[in-house]
Amino acid sequence: MEYSYAAFAIPAFFIFLALEYVAAKRKNRTDIYKYESSVANLSIGLAERLLNLFISVSFYQLFCYVYNNFAIFDIPRSLWVWVILLLATDLVWYWYHRLGHEINLFWGAHIVHHQSEEFNYTVSARITTIQAVVRNLFWCILPFAGFDPLMVMSILVIHGAYSFFTHTQLLKAPQWLEYVFVTPSIHGVHHASNEKYLNKNYGDLFVFWDKLFGTFEKEEEKPVYGLTHPLNSYSFMWQHFHYYMEMAEACRRTTGLWNKLKIIFGDPAILDQDIRASLEKRFLPHKVVNRPVKKLSFKVYLNIQVLAVASLLFLVTYFFGDLDFADKFFSSAFILITLINCGALLEQRRWIFYLEIIRLLLLTGYISLLFDTYILLALSASAIFLLTLTRPVQQWYLRIIYSET
Ligand SMILES: [Zn+2]
Ligand SMILES: [Zn+2]
Repeated sequence: MEYSYAAFAIPAFFIFLALEYVAAKRKNRTDIYKYESSVANLSIGLAERLLNLFISVSFYQLFCYVYNNFAIFDIPRSLWVWVILLLATDLVWYWYHRLGHEINLFWGAHIVHHQSEEFNYTVSARITTIQAVVRNLFWCILPFAGFDPLMVMSILVIHGAYSFFTHTQLLKAPQWLEYVFVTPSIHGVHHASNEKYLNKNYGDLFVFWDKLFGTFEKEEEKPVYGLTHPLNSYSFMWQHFHYYMEMAEACRRTTGLWNKLKIIFGDPAILDQDIRASLEKRFLPHKVVNRPVKKLSFKVYLNIQVLAVASLLFLVTYFFGDLDFADKFFSSAFILITLINCGALLEQRRWIFYLEIIRLLLLTGYISLLFDTYILLALSASAIFLLTLTRPVQQWYLRIIYSET
């Protein structure tokens, strides 16, 4: 049996989240947590953690390949190298992050991290798999320089964990710490859309890169968190892909290869802001914007889904080495559809009904496979179709879940 203890990062994350939530309640800081946005943040993070299980080994192999074939220096594995490696990792991060804001192709992945208009621990989870891929390609610089891939992997765990703690408004770090480290206040400035805070504080662990490259800004006025042009959508798919769709539309509207390349590799500021509105009309008709969720049954239903996905993800991560193809396929499909479902619930979409059918079919399909009985699948599939396609059942479902039907 192979167990992955990395799975325990999931419950640890939820424990810190609960602590921050309770502290926010006690301090009467109602501006810190917004239910819908927290669910949206968690959905994105859970999807990334799931997909990461499938790609992390390939990245380690890529690091080894780069190291074995192209390493410039033969860097020893001594104690002082860990310190140099930590500094080098943070420097690579600075430029990866900065280019993530300055080049459309990378901003399309990183924008998701900035969509939240709240700033709390759930925002640290807003990392997509596309961003993880871009980030790992940047990390290849480290084995290319000659750092041992195993050391790189270890330092990345520490580096990644640190950034979780900088996504909070409740921890006030002592002033002297800000001379060396990125604190929640410094990273909060990075998440703000106030004019003076734009494109500032790219550092993850150390603050001196920003000071060195002229991008440092101290927190003075109260930060307004989120994008300068808020997305106003909780759709799981839209949050992930809207910017790439906007880029594709901008490329379609322009002529000549040079102009198209300028869009792909140019500054996000050059992208026409009207494009998003026209795409929203096409792909998000009848958008329900920022309607707070009031109905208790709705919240209960949604909370159960998030907790079920987190628990399932914990089990999948823990037992990943022992799972066969069917286990991985059904659990991943179930998790991803549930996360799309959560976004559709927040946006009060009626087509969610069909997603629910797919989810039930996945569940019965997996049970049938486990017990090697396809009669169960055939019977349950017919029952699900008969039940769900009848109007009273649909109406009952929508009445329980949605605010008004
Ligand atoms: Zn950023
Ligand atoms: Zn952040």
